[in-house]
Amino acid sequence: AEMFGQLSTGLEAAWSKLRGQEVLTKDNIAEPMRDIRRALLEADVSLPVVRRFVQSVTDQAVGVGLIRGVKPDQQLVKIVRDELVKLMGLQGVGKTTVSAKLAFYLKKLGKSCMLVAGDVYRPAAIDQLVILGQQVDVPVYTASTDVKPSEIAKQGLAEAKKKNLDVVIVDTAGRLQIDKAMMDELKDVKRAVNPTEILLVVDAMTGQEAAALVTTFNLEVGITGAILTKLDGDSRGGAALSVKEVSGKPIKLVGRGERMEDLEPFYPDRMAGRILG
Ligand code: GDP
Repeated sequence: AEMFGQLSTGLEAAWSKLRGQEVLTKDNIAEPMRDIRRALLEADVSLPVVRRFVQSVTDQAVGVGLIRGVKPDQQLVKIVRDELVKLMGLQGVGKTTVSAKLAFYLKKLGKSCMLVAGDVYRPAAIDQLVILGQQVDVPVYTASTDVKPSEIAKQGLAEAKKKNLDVVIVDTAGRLQIDKAMMDELKDVKRAVNPTEILLVVDAMTGQEAAALVTTFNLEVGITGAILTKLDGDSRGGAALSVKEVSGKPIKLVGRGERMEDLEPFYPDRMAGRILG
């Protein structure tokens, strides 16, 4: 919300030019779109994400006129706001944290691991993984954000083979907003490294949407299981049922806190108790 606040103040000039327009066109939204692009880049959003964001907003906006008394410029604000909320809501389920936790978990079981930073859409995710990797003393393979995730995964795997490591954990991009580009990318990663496990990280707070999320990922990419995060929160954890019900795949581990040691096996009986309250 704060980010949107800053963004919209910065955009006021651009919006004001739209006032009085009867319909949004590629031409009259060009300047606001340029400003949005700049604002997002200044906010450290990565270029591919910015491009996709601007494209998506443009696609939705062009042709929009007066709808039920809401003027086109106000509608553009709404489209941008909704896209932003989507973009932000889609991050933070705990993937990057889980990747490092999993490495730590496996390390305690005597396996040597390598972490691979494949979430190039959230540049902070790469730094975050490097820091967490140092914390758990596991090597992290990184490449620049313009390298394709499938390529990064392949390079990481080769590097791990050279070092004779047992397990490679690839942190990939992932959003709740499921788009084709992202699914294709995940399929590319899958083809590139032929993973033994494909684990969908599900935030226990997700609730109802969990079913759709799991269904899509399972159909498109094919998962071997899930990791449920944030079980230390106050959600009942109904998402756990959705995972099993719609994919038939098990929940393998659960996250119960922000620390590296807060990852444990999934105990169905405990979960049943929790869901029933
Ligand atoms: P990503 O965007 O999916 O990679 O999410 P992150 O790994 O960056 O996690 C987002 C936030 O959730 C971070 O502040 C994490 O510390 C926090 N987080 C991750 N897993 C858990 C968990 O099991 N419990 C709690 N309380 N917080 C978690």
